[in-house]
Amino acid sequence: ARNTRQLEVRDLTVRYGRLTAVESVSFTAVPGTIELLLGANGAGKSSTLKAIAGVVRPASGQVRIGDQDITGKPAWRVVRSKVVLVPEGRRIVQSLSVEENLLLGGYSNTEASSRDSILADVYDLFPILADRRRSAGGLLSGGEQQMLAFGRALMADPDVILMDEPSMGLAPVMVDKVFETVREIALRGIAIVMVEQNAAAMELASGVHVLEQGREVLGGTGAELRGDPRVASAFLGVS
Ligand code: ATP
Repeated sequence: ARNTRQLEVRDLTVRYGRLTAVESVSFTAVPGTIELLLGANGAGKSSTLKAIAGVVRPASGQVRIGDQDITGKPAWRVVRSKVVLVPEGRRIVQSLSVEENLLLGGYSNTEASSRDSILADVYDLFPILADRRRSAGGLLSGGEQQMLAFGRALMADPDVILMDEPSMGLAPVMVDKVFETVREIALRGIAIVMVEQNAAAMELASGVHVLEQGREVLGGTGAELRGDPRVASAFLGVS
């Protein structure tokens, strides 16, 4: 069935003790599109994704997927609601095989038959993972490990994927490939929220949200903000 559920984030606030890492951030992620969160180190991008994914508990605000309220739900419940995080640094299990890593992502997908068909679909999308399915995850290149992290997320049959800096640490040619893959994943009807520091990500984005000290200081469509010097200063961390 085609996904029609959108992710709605309203006035999301995250605190670590007395530090406010995210302050009243709001956006909507629509199936088939990419919503981009930009900002310098420490701007609150990862904390926003973690609060949506149930890795940290928001201090206030709301997160909804379709008509379901998932605010403050634990991570395993959020995954079951079809919202999946691809964390910074990919976090694949180095000693397990490619296929074992993929199957880990499908653990909440209890029916074996649908798990097998999703696995076949992931191998179609990423032939390199099929070729290397018995290799240890740790033997893959950085770009291949990012594909594996995407594949693992897809195993949960998600409506929303939260991606934390997928281009991090990759050679420029691999960055292009990873962004192309992100676009292909969105075209399957998945809503994507992507955190990036790489300006090339603007090309993919429907909506762009520039964060500074936890707040959205600039927002617009990808087309509106492409080439805007205020975005460049956000990348450089200059205010
Ligand atoms: P980066 O790209 O460096 O990950 P970011 O924009 O994702 O940056 P966050 O990681 O969300 O930013 O961090 C926002 C603020 O919250 C920073 O000041 C950071 O030091 C702080 N912070 C993040 N995680 C924690 C934590 N677990 N405990 C305390 N403070 C934290």
